Amino acid sequence: MKIGLEVHVALPTRSKLFCSCSTADADQPNTNVCPTCMGLPGSKPYLNGEAVRIAKSVCIALGCVVNGSISFVRKTYFYPDLPKSYQITQIDGAIGRDGKIKLENTEIRIRRVQIEEDPAKLIREDRYSLIDFNRSGTPLVEIVTEPDIKSEKELKEFLYVLWSILYYLGVDIDKEIKTDLNISLGSNRVEVKNVTGIKNLLDAAAYEASRQASLLSRGNEPVKETRRYDERSQRTEPSREKESEEEYGYIYETDLEDYDTSKIKTGDIEADVRKTAKSIASRNGLDYDTIMQLVAFDRHSLSLLNHGLNSTAYDPSTILNVVEAGKRFRSSVNEKSFSLIAEYIKAGVQIDKEIMERIRKGLKPDYKTPDKLKIREFISKELENDPDILKRYRKNPKVIDFIVDTVSRKYGLPQKSVAEEAKKILTGEDD
Ligand SMILES: [Zn+2]
Repeated sequence: MKIGLEVHVALPTRSKLFCSCSTADADQPNTNVCPTCMGLPGSKPYLNGEAVRIAKSVCIALGCVVNGSISFVRKTYFYPDLPKSYQITQIDGAIGRDGKIKLENTEIRIRRVQIEEDPAKLIREDRYSLIDFNRSGTPLVEIVTEPDIKSEKELKEFLYVLWSILYYLGVDIDKEIKTDLNISLGSNRVEVKNVTGIKNLLDAAAYEASRQASLLSRGNEPVKETRRYDERSQRTEPSREKESEEEYGYIYETDLEDYDTSKIKTGDIEADVRKTAKSIASRNGLDYDTIMQLVAFDRHSLSLLNHGLNSTAYDPSTILNVVEAGKRFRSSVNEKSFSLIAEYIKAGVQIDKEIMERIRKGLKPDYKTPDKLKIREFISKELENDPDILKRYRKNPKVIDFIVDTVSRKYGLPQKSVAEEAKKILTGEDD
């Protein structure tokens, strides 16, 4: 088996790759937009130096040769997520090349690391599609490997090593990772495009491996083709995608000048971070390794950490937890939202996507006023998210513990009050 990957991950910058629009999650669609990231005629891209700096750190961590001068190309394709009908990306002038990731028993070569922009997001409804440009122009790096991965086990190991390297650099690939997977058991290359998330990637590879193996065992060679992965059926199927490399018609992006990467000093940043981490650790009686893990290569975390430590309002453990949340939710965790997040953490609430949603709206934790109606509302919302839960509850009443745990953790509510209300709702004895 031969597997090669093209892994796309979003870089944790505050603004987009070619304009100053924010990359933070927005409440409403099409609010973090401007003519450049909407691809309107006459708009001009400006390169975000911070994205290049993080991409350079990624290249160094992957043992790549960093190109001194980088350039961009236009990759042409027609699709509504990209109104200017080309994506700005890199090929020959890519930032990094010839790297490797060491696994326990082997080495996976990295062919290229390139910087590119994310297209807009399409939301498909029954009879029409909607386009949200908030994501359009988000900086990505694409990491292209050689087809060196030889088994599903190696694929898993590769992903976890890559994940930890990127996490160390402040890049969280857990949710947003998008991968094109090349996999061949026979002599023809099969490509599975646009697989989202690590679990789907592993599932897609497993399905393809067994599909191709069963074809080969019957004496049939799998055909060279592009396929897509369907999350619901957990199968891959032929996709209608037609573009081949030649049809992308790459041309040089003349709106962007070649960029000199040698002026970005990631080495200095690293030494600087180490020094700062050491002094923070010793001044505040904190563990140096913990601090390093949080702030390495990561100015966002470092500034959050300094902000917390400069105030007398927080204890060290709360501060570290807020900084840790900042690594996951990036720019939504900032000096402004710091005190509110600290309040949730002190209340024992785990910071997740839904809590961040509340924080963005400026809502305080509900733990002080566990009002019955409110609690019921939260439980009902949880039940709506998972319609099968009632069926499972009838088979196994212990399912209630799961609901109680989820709701009380999510909203910072006392378990006892949640349990009382959940029982009433589930048994139907409403008062
Ligand atoms: Zn913009």
